[in-house]
Amino acid sequence: MGDPKAFLNIPRQEAGYRPIHERITDFSQVEQTLNSHDRKLQASRCMDCGVPFCHWACPLGNKDPEFQDALYRGKWHEAYQILNSTNDFPEFTGRICPALCEKSCVLKLSCDEPVTIRENEAAIAEAAFREGYITPCKPERNGKKVAVIGAGPAGLSVAVRLNAKGYEVTLFDSKPMPGGLLRYGIPNFKLDKAVIDRRMKILEAEGILFKMGVHVDVQKLPAGFDAYTICTGTPTARDLSIPGRELKGIYFALDMLAQQNHILDGDTFPKDQLVNARGKRVLVIGGGDTGSDCIGTSIRQGAVSVTQIEIMPQPPIEHNPDTPWPQWPVVLKTTSSHEEGCTRRWSLASTRFIGKNGRVCGVEVEEVEWLPATDGSRPTMKPTGKKEVIEADMVLLAMGFLKPEQPKFAENVFVAGDAAHGASLVVRALADGRRVATEIDRYLNPLKENKK
Ligand code: FAD
Repeated sequence: MGDPKAFLNIPRQEAGYRPIHERITDFSQVEQTLNSHDRKLQASRCMDCGVPFCHWACPLGNKDPEFQDALYRGKWHEAYQILNSTNDFPEFTGRICPALCEKSCVLKLSCDEPVTIRENEAAIAEAAFREGYITPCKPERNGKKVAVIGAGPAGLSVAVRLNAKGYEVTLFDSKPMPGGLLRYGIPNFKLDKAVIDRRMKILEAEGILFKMGVHVDVQKLPAGFDAYTICTGTPTARDLSIPGRELKGIYFALDMLAQQNHILDGDTFPKDQLVNARGKRVLVIGGGDTGSDCIGTSIRQGAVSVTQIEIMPQPPIEHNPDTPWPQWPVVLKTTSSHEEGCTRRWSLASTRFIGKNGRVCGVEVEEVEWLPATDGSRPTMKPTGKKEVIEADMVLLAMGFLKPEQPKFAENVFVAGDAAHGASLVVRALADGRRVATEIDRYLNPLKENKK
């Protein structure tokens, strides 16, 4: 173990973001990095508390105390090997995971200064690429073939695990490039797409076959495979069926986010199909991470103002230490995009879109009250009758995604990631991909299982 008392003297230090005035002029990654000396100091703050809540909270079961210790001792290769034993893509999660591990770190619960587990993870992953610890490994083939439909995090996770076990894996995706929402949802300022390309080169060299730009009808799966995995995500966004929905200037969040990422990748769109916030007063409906990505993107495109509204009440600014364990410390989340300039409001329901000459020019909202349930069920919403109009020339709907209904599949068809469980997180999609890969291996190789 590293330094059991380091956390008493060394405060949490985050690498922070590039200055606002600089970062809003481009789409490059906003998060900075610490030097390796400071990074090791941060790792030393893990006190190996003996009850690794961090490890339990991570859907991948990352061995956080172990890799912090290796990092503290300067054993970068060992730290990578520990990290890689549970996580095939630490360069993704190290950048964009909401870090459930940090929320359950004992130092979070006791003094609100958890170990910087996510940033440490990203630093280890970057060192591994830089130092050449990550090299393609082409396994011996076992003669069986698996098709994976959808090359998002879940599909990539299934593919990488099965490929390592000797299956010939073909990844199909309707998009031109692999990555799913990592590439065509999450903005570049959170995740530079070169990070995905770098990993895809390794996967290709390991023998995974990519068939991009191919839309697969999941009811009519391509022939010639021993098993299939459906990893098609949650393609349908939640809509807002209120009067005026037909007006021009109202978009789903991904209309903007995906298009912006395509444009940064060199793609072009006809002028009348551009979803661009330049010179507009933008209203984002939905207070979650997708909404926050719309804010950062609108600001970079040149919006004159951005307002974000949420139907739920405002969470407390600070963690209440009286919150009974093990309830998550729910506090107001301020992202890098919020810092860049946006008005945030809560407890507002949208009642109608207001238009002029066929285009949206505002949204009527009504304040709602949330009444706590006395019987442990969900709180109930009560409209207060207090209405107002928020002026807006562009409205972005960021209210989540519908859980897809899956048809009844044949025995050799598996489902993983958001397609199976509804919209969630990259780390959950990766974990689910690993679980399903193990199930497929058991299904295709029952004898191997019996021999254990
Ligand atoms: P997806 O990533 O959705 O991938 C599904 C893939 O299947 C896509 O590439 C699609 O083109 C393909 N596909 C679908 N149908 C077909 C078909 N019929 N034939 C061929 N291909 C098909 N999570 C985090 O942890 N951190 C974040 O910061 C974060 N930010 C987010 C920001 C936004 C804007 C959004 C929308 C989500 C965000 N998430 C974030 C959630 C995260 O991206 C998803 O939970 C995760 O990508 C789900 O992975 P998946 O592989 O199941 O699906």
